[in-house]
Amino acid sequence: MTTNQAPHESTEPHSPTGPAHAVARHRELFGTPPEGVWSAPGRANLIGEHTDYNDGFVMPLALPHATTVTGSRRADGLLRVHSRDIPGPTVEFVVDELAPRSAEGWAAYPAGVAWALREAGHAIGGADLYLESTVPTGAGLSSSAALEVSTALALNDLYELGLPPEVLARHAQRAENDFVGIPCGILDQMASACCTAEHVLHLDTRDLSRRQVPFDMAAEGLRLLVVDTQVKHALADGAYAERRAECEAGAAALDVPALRDIAHDQLDAALARLADPAVPPAVRRRVRHVVTENHRVERIVALLDAGRAREIGPVLTEGHASLRDDFEVSCPELDLAVSAATAAGALGARMTGGGFGGSAIVLVEADATDTTTKAVLAAFAERGHVPPRVFEAIPSAGARRLPLAG
Ligand code: ADP
Ligand code: MG
Repeated sequence: MTTNQAPHESTEPHSPTGPAHAVARHRELFGTPPEGVWSAPGRANLIGEHTDYNDGFVMPLALPHATTVTGSRRADGLLRVHSRDIPGPTVEFVVDELAPRSAEGWAAYPAGVAWALREAGHAIGGADLYLESTVPTGAGLSSSAALEVSTALALNDLYELGLPPEVLARHAQRAENDFVGIPCGILDQMASACCTAEHVLHLDTRDLSRRQVPFDMAAEGLRLLVVDTQVKHALADGAYAERRAECEAGAAALDVPALRDIAHDQLDAALARLADPAVPPAVRRRVRHVVTENHRVERIVALLDAGRAREIGPVLTEGHASLRDDFEVSCPELDLAVSAATAAGALGARMTGGGFGGSAIVLVEADATDTTTKAVLAAFAERGHVPPRVFEAIPSAGARRLPLAG
């Protein structure tokens, strides 16, 4: 055993079938062959957590797990969507009548993408879309962004819009923010749209400028593991909105447009300004997290550029402590994954994604994969937690069109 999940393997019903199966299913469902097939991955974030809504820096990698969509245009202005992974019938919309919050459930994500493109003035007509995904949902690995970005890419090609990936990512984010009603930042959609294999994406979320940083772990004798705790605590959504508000309060108290504008060497002075009794103590801690986290992104970029990938481990673990203690978005299961992995000799570990459940990442020497995985599983068993799913995070391709098989 290396990990307890093969890279492409996922629990039912999210098992892979491949484009050929999807093409056949599209034909069966909609009575017409698809014109194309597109794929957009889930992501893990190496470093830069809760920085994207502070105009800060992030560093995601695309996972081998992806959402595949087959699509064909319709002349009657209907959008029909079907997901293999959510039991239920095909969901139908009149494209002209799409409006924010008008749809419920999973179909709001693809419908929201069509709405966002039309809102931006793009001439999107009807379409039939069939979706399959191997991205675990609600595991902090961005199945929602994979769904949005694969849909955006399909509509972009079907209606020959010619939009670049960062613009599609913006429309996907708008779909999630304004149509579905979830106030996420741009990290997930940019990761899914713009990551490339064997690289991590160094992204400035203020202007979307970015660079692909080589991260070929196999060549370095390293592995990055994902530990999906399979828990999601109920307070996740409320706490996310609260953290955003606290960060905005911090920026306002410091007279800057966003916390990204506080450089690391200005942190002590900023914290001294926030010592005012009118500022809640939690705001100081949130500010400290965001400023140190942006700095951790820069430190990791410098280490990777210098060919010192092993040395990023302690920076990852430091990032976890900051999310746990200053940003307060971890939970016992994520803390356990990190402590068990590092105690077993991992180079570093941290929660990834929004927190309150979901996944952790663990950097290990390749030959320590086995012992680290076993140690994490044993620690979860000892506490009576649901066994986590552990798999390798191989930096994979971003969103793309696939050859039309079948
Ligand atoms: P995450 O993005 O971390 O996986 P979210 O809560 O943001 O978690 O998004 C999960 C939601 O996205 C699901 O509840 C569902 O509505 C939608 N979704 C994700 N994958 C699929 C899929 N394969 N088919 C249909 N809906 C999906
Ligand atoms: Mg999501």
